[in-house]
Amino acid sequence: MYAYIIECSDGSYYTGWTNDLNRRITSHSEGSGAKYTRGRGPVKLVYWEFYPTKQQAQRREAEIKKWTRSRKEKQVKGFAILKGGRDMKKTMKDTIKEMEKLFNIPSPSGFTGKIEEYIEKFLKENSVPYEITNKSAIVATLRGKNDQEHRTLSAHLDTLGAMVKEVKSSGRIKFDPIGGYMMHSVEGEDCWIHTQDEKIYTGTILTTKPSVHIHGDAKKIERNVENMEIVIDEKVSSKEDVLKLGINVGDFIALDPRTKITKSGFIKSRHIDDKAGVAILLGTIKHLVSKKIIPEYTTHFFFSNYEEVGHGASARIPEKTKEFLAIDMGTPGDGQTSTEFDVTICAKDSTGPYDFSFRKKLIDLGNTHKIPYQVDIFPFYGSDASAALRSGNDFKAGLIGPGVFASHGYERTHQDAIENTLKLVLAYLVSE
Ligand SMILES: [Zn+2]
Repeated sequence: MYAYIIECSDGSYYTGWTNDLNRRITSHSEGSGAKYTRGRGPVKLVYWEFYPTKQQAQRREAEIKKWTRSRKEKQVKGFAILKGGRDMKKTMKDTIKEMEKLFNIPSPSGFTGKIEEYIEKFLKENSVPYEITNKSAIVATLRGKNDQEHRTLSAHLDTLGAMVKEVKSSGRIKFDPIGGYMMHSVEGEDCWIHTQDEKIYTGTILTTKPSVHIHGDAKKIERNVENMEIVIDEKVSSKEDVLKLGINVGDFIALDPRTKITKSGFIKSRHIDDKAGVAILLGTIKHLVSKKIIPEYTTHFFFSNYEEVGHGASARIPEKTKEFLAIDMGTPGDGQTSTEFDVTICAKDSTGPYDFSFRKKLIDLGNTHKIPYQVDIFPFYGSDASAALRSGNDFKAGLIGPGVFASHGYERTHQDAIENTLKLVLAYLVSE
């Protein structure tokens, strides 16, 4: 059973209920559907909701009939964007495809040149104007109906990683972590060493006692920077051998993302934080541009490059920004409301509460468009929005994102969470 809204040829709306949408629309267009629509055809179906019973559909019809014209318009507009049927499916497919590409471009904080090039190429292909800040963040802009007040969305391009700290006399490498992670979560992980002269070597991160057959305390040894090292996949047995390869202190180390997308829709990879957010912004841009949808306010897309080390979007936020929404991850786990399927709306993280009225606006959008969301608190977390506030910007800050399990480890989320975040972002951009 359906409650529906049709738009008549004179632009007015008619609300009804039916068990057969197609037949009902045809009869409206032919003038036999209802008294009101007679002579007002052809009509266009602009909104519908499905209900299991007739009573529920009728109750909803009565509710919708009480709405003001502008409330109906809002609902219809959101519906066109989010339910656009095949369109939304294509946007989701594009977003996942972009995400897979992004996972495989190494980008530890401080070494984000390649991924920046990729974003620039994407923006050029979609004819979206952008600026590059002095520290190489990228700010793309889509002009909105209102150009006096702006909105800025952010996602960070940089990820966790490491740097060569010391070449040991054994020919193994001591590393210094970039960003905060548990050492045992990188144990056994493949990695790439990027040298100054752009050579790439592979290796494996292990403890200094990696074999249970040789080291009695292999299981017990504490996983910390002192006890971990990288074994390079080259025939080296001394410091000199390694230096000859061109590997030096200060070379960047990227972790193998090991991306896998399962048939059941799970995405397993390193760096879902925040390449999922970046892909969601790219998906949003492509959706708006290809469908010629103009956002309500001029909107900036801020791709930051030092978030994992704390000062991501701390500078060059477009001046007219009234609302700043960071797209980063939610944190499912014990005691958390976040899930791998919903979009999380963050109420507070360790840097303090996000703007209450902004949070309410996002919750309203979730309710209006039936987007599954959770409100959560992240006890050990800071975002680009809080970095921007701390550096002296004046705007209302918000934070949303897909729930990402085992964050800063080998992470996991589900395509549903990506889709729900994408929908909330789109609903927000066309809302007042
Ligand atoms: Zn993040």
